[in-house]
Amino acid sequence: MYLKGVGEYRSKLLAKIGVHTVLDLMELFPRTYLSRNVNPSLAELQVGENVALTAEISWVDARPSTTGKKILHVGVNDKALGIECVWFRYPPSYLKIFKPGSTIWISGTLSSFNGQLQINHPEFEILDKEIDEHDFWKNKLLLPVYPLTEGLTQTMMRKLVYSCFEQYASYIEEVLPDFLLQKYGFAPRRVALQIMHFTEKREVADKTRRRFAYEEFFFSQILWARHKIYHSQNSYGIKFDNKKKLTTELKNKLSFKLTSAQKRVIREIFADMCSPRQMSRLIQGDVGSGKTIVTIFAMLLAVENGYQATLMAPTEILAEQHYQNFQKLLDGMGIKIILLKGGSYKGKTEQKKQIADGSAQIILGTHALIQKDVDFAKLGFVAVDEQHRFGVEQRAMLAKGNSHPDLLYISATPIPRSLAMTVYGDLQVSQIDEMPPNRKAVITYYRSERKLDTVFADVERELRNGRQAYFVCPLVEESEKLALLDAQRLYTHLKDKIYPSYSIELLHGRMSAKEKDAIMQRFKAGEIKILVTTTVIEVGVDVANASVMVIEHAERFGLAQLHQLRGRVGRGADQAYCFLIGHHPLSAMARERLNIMTRSTDGFVIAEKDLELRGPGEFFGYEQSGLPQFRFANLIADQSILNLARKDAFEIINKDFQMIKPEHEKLRIIYLSKYKQKESLILY
Ligand code: ADP
Ligand code: MG
Repeated sequence: MYLKGVGEYRSKLLAKIGVHTVLDLMELFPRTYLSRNVNPSLAELQVGENVALTAEISWVDARPSTTGKKILHVGVNDKALGIECVWFRYPPSYLKIFKPGSTIWISGTLSSFNGQLQINHPEFEILDKEIDEHDFWKNKLLLPVYPLTEGLTQTMMRKLVYSCFEQYASYIEEVLPDFLLQKYGFAPRRVALQIMHFTEKREVADKTRRRFAYEEFFFSQILWARHKIYHSQNSYGIKFDNKKKLTTELKNKLSFKLTSAQKRVIREIFADMCSPRQMSRLIQGDVGSGKTIVTIFAMLLAVENGYQATLMAPTEILAEQHYQNFQKLLDGMGIKIILLKGGSYKGKTEQKKQIADGSAQIILGTHALIQKDVDFAKLGFVAVDEQHRFGVEQRAMLAKGNSHPDLLYISATPIPRSLAMTVYGDLQVSQIDEMPPNRKAVITYYRSERKLDTVFADVERELRNGRQAYFVCPLVEESEKLALLDAQRLYTHLKDKIYPSYSIELLHGRMSAKEKDAIMQRFKAGEIKILVTTTVIEVGVDVANASVMVIEHAERFGLAQLHQLRGRVGRGADQAYCFLIGHHPLSAMARERLNIMTRSTDGFVIAEKDLELRGPGEFFGYEQSGLPQFRFANLIADQSILNLARKDAFEIINKDFQMIKPEHEKLRIIYLSKYKQKESLILY
């Protein structure tokens, strides 16, 4: 559909924020709302809080700092009290924008510096520009604030949204059945959407948003309800027999005792595998909790029943590491283990033959395992390591095999159980909520870039004790404007200037799998003392002698990633250290993330905080996972709505799986239009 004011250029910008159709635009909810009234409450604000307020500009000061750095101070007041907005970096245009006497809306984290209340780098909007007489928004007291991308402005977005409703509001259709609208007293969709954009009362918008949260949960729960019923009626699994042969042999060989959490999870998995239904189970356990060994026990159960077992890992490095681990642990047990790699190489044809004739019993690999030409003779068990790195589709490729193999998903991201059920549907969840004994929590320090020298000295102390170190750098993005201390430069600096007497290597994503492997092998063997790397080591790499990790530009990493990275050290019984290096200025969010990292090593605490800070959408990486996305709902805050929606959806599907009753007619049509494709991935 055509929208006034949107040409080719703007439609590209809109696409960047997820708006492809006029309906998308009408469903683009404001991030927040700003009030045109000067907010008379500066006195009530607390340091550390995220605040949004409307105030008047009192003064503008662009004098450089005493050290000559460019810096901009803007004083604002509520007629009684003043605070300062500070920019350490700003475009010249700001000097024209800020004028004493103007009304300004600002939003950011309130801090205090030498007793002066400040907001650093706030988001802002000047509210007293000349306004077009005919502008719909002219007299509005509450204005929506939309997500933007470079090239779009709030004024532009407001105009577009308004004209969109003017032309197309009549196209908005109801998606919820009447009986549910009545049950909850929800406003019709067309009305509710307009409230979200044009309301003059925040509370009304908050209340109305619940309708949309419900709607999203409801449809995703219909999907899972259908999944559950479908599989309870149609799944033919394998009934394994617990012969206690290979599994007992391994137990006796192990050099350590399993933790009670590991034992419990093994029992849970075995109970599933020995039932005739197809297993679909997720193991969650923090990095280093010992998920791999648990998986090996499950694989041996399949193997001693005459089936093949496979483990798919997201990277070649990790697959290679599993391979060595498996070979060591299962040495002398007479089990044929194969590592199937990507690309073509000598011996691959032979490997595929062994997979197809059943002589390969344990098959490890990456995506190479789900290529069309890989044909398993008798696949009984599939494990997917770091499962969130694969899409639903990729996992389904292995799951769909004719024999209905038992499925085990492995995840180091501990998420609350109720959330797991929502996002992964009807999976069973096992938690390894205990660490192997004698593990010392990694001691984590935050250091500013200016203190790098002290960090180098701290690292050297570990090196002198015979330990090894990781230096991790973020990837350099093309669009990155700031100069990053990238891995290459850091490597050269450390090698030439700081640690000339230690062996040091660089590992990065653009190397071939073979090169990467070779370096990892030498690091493992202790030949390389210092590994400078980009995030390629993030996942699952296990080198017990590495006792210190330095993370450069730590402010650029997400919490989950920092936690994963840090999990690479402290894998033995000795004390390990992690240094998080921050480069200024740090956003309030980054500060908070680094703070949490220095305070906690508990994956659950960190995951919860991560969810809180980022919101679940990004947390789970829906885009790549192919799972239902939640645009309106907040998986944490809206749990009670989720429970209602889940109950309603299951009730409907239990009674009427095909949704063919007259009162479900419309529901079926809308559900199929939204979810047909997703459903085809999970109903097999
Ligand atoms: P993750 O859960 O991160 O995949 P791993 O399975 O790689 O963890 O285990 C981490 C390390 O701990 C490995 O070196 C493994 O041999 C060791 N480990 C696993 N279970 C135990 C245990 N019960 N006691 C002592 N060490 C263990
Ligand atoms: Mg692992």
